[in-house]
Amino acid sequence: MLQPALSVVLEALEKIRDSQEKPLRVSRATLNRLFKQPPHPDAVAAGVLAAPKLGEGGSPARKTDVAAKAAALAQVRERVCVCMKCPHLARTRTQTVFGVGNPDAELMFVGEAPGADEDARGEPFVGRAGQLLTRIIETMGLSRDEVYIANILKCRPDVPKGAPGNRPGTRGAMRLLRGTWRSYHDTPLMITYHPSYLLRNQSPGEKRRVWEDMMAVLEKLDRPISERQRNYFL
Ligand code: SF4
Repeated sequence: MLQPALSVVLEALEKIRDSQEKPLRVSRATLNRLFKQPPHPDAVAAGVLAAPKLGEGGSPARKTDVAAKAAALAQVRERVCVCMKCPHLARTRTQTVFGVGNPDAELMFVGEAPGADEDARGEPFVGRAGQLLTRIIETMGLSRDEVYIANILKCRPDVPKGAPGNRPGTRGAMRLLRGTWRSYHDTPLMITYHPSYLLRNQSPGEKRRVWEDMMAVLEKLDRPISERQRNYFL
């Protein structure tokens, strides 16, 4: 009963959103109530977002929570797979690129949009930048399976050959935006450089800054940081 009801609610919300000049805003608390889950006060995010603590659970109620999250994601994925809202992107994409990882993850990495490798394979962060992200995640003491990884856009931007396809979001230089905590619907959010930037810019200083951002995320998650991690350079 819940999934059909949620579909009706989502469709109604989309109609309201599409008919309004102002974007429709739903608080995290409302979303949590909608999915009948308690809010997660210790949720963390960083170019990166997060949810409940890893390894919290094997109780039947907990398993039901996780199954509900996985089912909700699967439903969104179905909608994304056939989405044609950006006709120019739908026309040029090989396939949509949905998020992957643990639906109950404590930490989520959010990129801008799929690149050529992701478009070809249908999975986010699988090219050279993805390999660097995997190294960052593993150095944080986590694995790709434990976190959730996605892009904001699910379709590869159809940019001219050689153009990066980046678009301005919050105004301001990335060097000023990164490294500070922000909040998105009560979820802590850390902005940092994209791994592909680090591949283009091999400056040890820039790599170190990303690693310092990741250590700030670990601290926010109350995870211990070893001496080796503190001295690490990507
Ligand atoms: S980018 Fe998002 S909204 Fe646009 S067509 Fe792809 S899935 Fe739909």
